[in-house]
Amino acid sequence: MNHFQYRGDELCCEEVPVREIAAQVGTPFYLYSHATLTRHMEAFTSSFASVPHLVCYSIKANSNLAVLKTFVNRGSGFDIVSGGELFRAMKSGCDPKKIVYSGVGKKDYEIEEALNADILMFNVESSQELETINEVAGRLGKKAGIAIRVNPDVDPQTHPYISTGMKKAKFGINIGQALEDYRRAAKMPNLEVIGVDCHIGSQLTKVSPFVDAVKKVRELVEALRGEGHNIRYLDLGGGLGITYKDENPPSPADYAEAIIEAVRGLDVTLVFEPGRVIAGNAGILVTKVLFVKEGETKNFVIVDAAMNDLARPALYGSYQGIQAVNRAVKKTITADVVGPICESGDFMAQDREIPALRQGDLAAVTSAGAYGFTMSSNYNSRPRVPEVMVKGDRVMVVRERETYEDLVRGESIPEDL
Ligand SMILES: *Cc1c(COP(=O)(O)O)cnc(C)c1O
Repeated sequence: MNHFQYRGDELCCEEVPVREIAAQVGTPFYLYSHATLTRHMEAFTSSFASVPHLVCYSIKANSNLAVLKTFVNRGSGFDIVSGGELFRAMKSGCDPKKIVYSGVGKKDYEIEEALNADILMFNVESSQELETINEVAGRLGKKAGIAIRVNPDVDPQTHPYISTGMKKAKFGINIGQALEDYRRAAKMPNLEVIGVDCHIGSQLTKVSPFVDAVKKVRELVEALRGEGHNIRYLDLGGGLGITYKDENPPSPADYAEAIIEAVRGLDVTLVFEPGRVIAGNAGILVTKVLFVKEGETKNFVIVDAAMNDLARPALYGSYQGIQAVNRAVKKTITADVVGPICESGDFMAQDREIPALRQGDLAAVTSAGAYGFTMSSNYNSRPRVPEVMVKGDRVMVVRERETYEDLVRGESIPEDL
């Protein structure tokens, strides 16, 4: 069941016409369907029901507190990559024993905050980080649970910017070197080695790279156990892809089946860090057409959302679907859908056949629930847009539109300029 459906010609989110929400909050805005978020989380979790597992939703995909709370209420933990994300995780009421902390550049104060919060484990990405966590934990009189993020050197066959598990990546420790680092970690008094971690990339549309990675890390787990390490958690990261255009990614059930098969007999708690697959298609960005400019060689539909609101097309050249909120007009045009920002990279779609939108029409940029708002900025001094969640027939503004005052918060003008 898709919760972004047309009723007649009018796009609705669950029970509510998108047009009504636009009239209430103005445009642009992000719109999330609570039923979709919930369904995606439950589909993922239930696929692993037959094995011990922990789902740690990756906060960076969509970190709105209402979204996080929706997941906490369904038993989810979180994968965090910063002190700020830890702050959000704790605010949402997450059990800290369901939090894993990834990222190549953790700072001392962030490590300290995570230790004080008593998180489950750190996914350690370098030899030096082991030393630092050991030191900080020692200072606090704590023991830090750790997994080493290993780099299994498999090609996830996705966009290079979101490939993370190959030898040349900045992430993790090469799997060949990991045994040595685990031995060092085991000797450090304030670390407790509890897991092995990998995350090979994002927007994967095949199961095989995951299975290849699992085979490699499984061998490592067995080797580590052979040396007496008590490995209880195998964190397989996130990365499952979604349909933006015509991709045909494995369903969570297919993904789970392949992974469960690949770890059979291993006796570990599996940890997953899904982000995009949960939130991506649970949200849209609603925007209004400001002007339509018909050129000699190209048509431009100029909308009020821009690359600062949704960076993915500018950053990766990604495809985002464009739909008319009212689809009564059946004609189409081929156009670039662009924003007001002073950059040629500021587009939502290029040379795309889209509904013949007219000035003042509303459009939905689809599949915008993950890496949408979280990657937004204030570039061109544009206030960040509101986030709205619909649950059934209820419309909840879960983040207000920023004001001009918000734009200059913290700035000052020294007197002796
Ligand atoms: C970004 C990230 C994820 C989530 O990736 P998705 O592709 O959104 O599922 C999980 N784990 C780590 C370490 C990440 O950096």
